[in-house]
Amino acid sequence: MKNIHLLDQQVSNMIAAGEVVERPAAVVKELIENAIDAKAQMISVEIKNGGKSFIRVSDNGNGIDNEDTVVAFERHATSKIKTATDLNSIFTLGFRGEALASIAAVAHVELITRTADAEEGTHVIIKAGQLISQQPAGCPKGTTIIVKNLFYNTPARMKFLKKDATEAGHIGDLVNRMVLGHPEISFRYINNGKEVTFTPGDNNLRSCIYNIYGKEYAKSMVEVKHSDGNIVIQGLAGKANIARANRNFQSFFINGRYIKSNTLTYALQQAYKNLLMVNRFPVAVLHLKINPNVIDVNVHPTKMEVKFSNEKQIFDAVYWAIKNALYSEKDIPEVTLSKQDLFNYTTSNNKQYNDINDTDVIGQQINVSRPAPINYEDITLKESVNMINNQSSDFGIDSVMEKGENTVEAINSSNELITKNQFKIIGQMFNTYIIIEKDEEMILIDQHAAHERLNYEKLMLDYKQRTLMPQTLLVPVVIQLSNIEIEIVKEHKEFFEKIGFEAEDFGNNSVVVRQTPISVGENYMKDLFLEIVNLIQKSNKEALTDMESHAFYTIACKSAIKANKGLHMAEMDKLVEDILSLRNINTCPHGRPIMISLSKYKIEKEFKRVGA
Ligand code: ADP
Ligand code: MG
Repeated sequence: MKNIHLLDQQVSNMIAAGEVVERPAAVVKELIENAIDAKAQMISVEIKNGGKSFIRVSDNGNGIDNEDTVVAFERHATSKIKTATDLNSIFTLGFRGEALASIAAVAHVELITRTADAEEGTHVIIKAGQLISQQPAGCPKGTTIIVKNLFYNTPARMKFLKKDATEAGHIGDLVNRMVLGHPEISFRYINNGKEVTFTPGDNNLRSCIYNIYGKEYAKSMVEVKHSDGNIVIQGLAGKANIARANRNFQSFFINGRYIKSNTLTYALQQAYKNLLMVNRFPVAVLHLKINPNVIDVNVHPTKMEVKFSNEKQIFDAVYWAIKNALYSEKDIPEVTLSKQDLFNYTTSNNKQYNDINDTDVIGQQINVSRPAPINYEDITLKESVNMINNQSSDFGIDSVMEKGENTVEAINSSNELITKNQFKIIGQMFNTYIIIEKDEEMILIDQHAAHERLNYEKLMLDYKQRTLMPQTLLVPVVIQLSNIEIEIVKEHKEFFEKIGFEAEDFGNNSVVVRQTPISVGENYMKDLFLEIVNLIQKSNKEALTDMESHAFYTIACKSAIKANKGLHMAEMDKLVEDILSLRNINTCPHGRPIMISLSKYKIEKEFKRVGA
């Protein structure tokens, strides 16, 4: 029996739709890209119910010829390329001819369009891929596409959609990227009847940033301008003070197309090395102009991924573009590590770019104005032991720790309670570790990890006993958020209150925070808040109880004594006593050890005072 048959067009379009239009924001993306390709100077986007019930994108671009209005909805119908060789020189955002066909397969679509030289335009209605009507229409030059009831005939897809506010957040974010990618175009974005974004299209990237992220960001970005003959890079890069807890405020555009690329992300991060605290990500908007024949955007139907024929060249261009921009700014400290530095180790798994020479930032040796910050957060026990090894050799003590694997041990948790007279504080080492002598052991305590753990225990206990004591801020702090972030804060208002934050909508994608779970400085407070937003964003379906304890981890960390901070004896005393009194605990909330020990026996063995 004959079993194999070709799928009819509607079914194959629905399958393709699964890839091209996974959510309302993807529809908006395709429609805006079409408008950009049509050379529009003005694009307006209006949505309702997170784009599920209504999306309208209008432009004043070239319009579609009356004869093409129906064929435009067929799969692989495009005006942008003709032959296979055209694939090597793509300057338009679209070229696969899939978007309109895919969207029309899973929604009710209307098209109203007119070209400059046509006397009248055309109005086409299509439902589930079927042409319902095609009529002449009086309309201005340009194109309007209305998409209603998205995914009404694909219930499985519909089920995956998030709440209206979340989908609207994605659309808002997408519109923002489009704005940042095309400052020369005037954008208007309206959500449920309310104007969210309007940009003048004056070709000024900084004013776009002002519009979207706010004043603080606009004034804290430095100009990036770079060319290596093949790649031209322009844009703005944020100073360290506006770095974020995630990469949401990073946008890369290649030849006007918003793309995601690990190579570019990594180059950016590397260029900021030593300028940012751990888990801080730079803000940046970068436009790259590259000959299209050295990139392949045809990796995925959404064309958001790109392949470069010469990754290293792209990496270097971005790296140097940013580095030069940052180092020409005076208020960012010029800090760098040489390869030989004691604390040099790689925390990144990406070994690919290890050949970057950090010593030579602008072609000459740069003064190290302060010791490079160390990422204590990322150090494993093994690494911390190595660090101690390195240091002790430097102090002229032949390392006691380098031989046996077991020489330095994380202290076993014990059940005994410890009092002051059971230990002796020898001192503080590297402003980070407290050295104590206890019984027959030398113990090193990581002051940050220990304090963090204590904070965490206290917060959790207070939380469970409902005795949390939030702090009212003397001066409320305003925090700028992205569209998605603001929706998260609104949606999880109760959660924030439960863990001790009081944050109110302050308009223009910002919130004003009046109360925090514990007292921390303003900057840490902002970080803390953003990190918790990020936590919620990442943790999607995580049980709320987990979320609470995660939030408390973060709070505990932010409010803990930092590494590299000198402590008084009384402070050390209290910390050591408290931490040794905790039962069964030897890791910080992140799972790193709080202390490591070296027994007297092992020390004496190394000094050959006792036999093996
Ligand atoms: P692609 O953009 O890959 O060519 P689409 O399915 O998105 O495929 O669009 C099909 C064709 O419809 C485009 O090639 C273009 O000719 C026309 N088109 C779509 N949207 C617009 C618009 N806003 N303005 C002018 N022409 C458009
Ligand atoms: Mg298109």
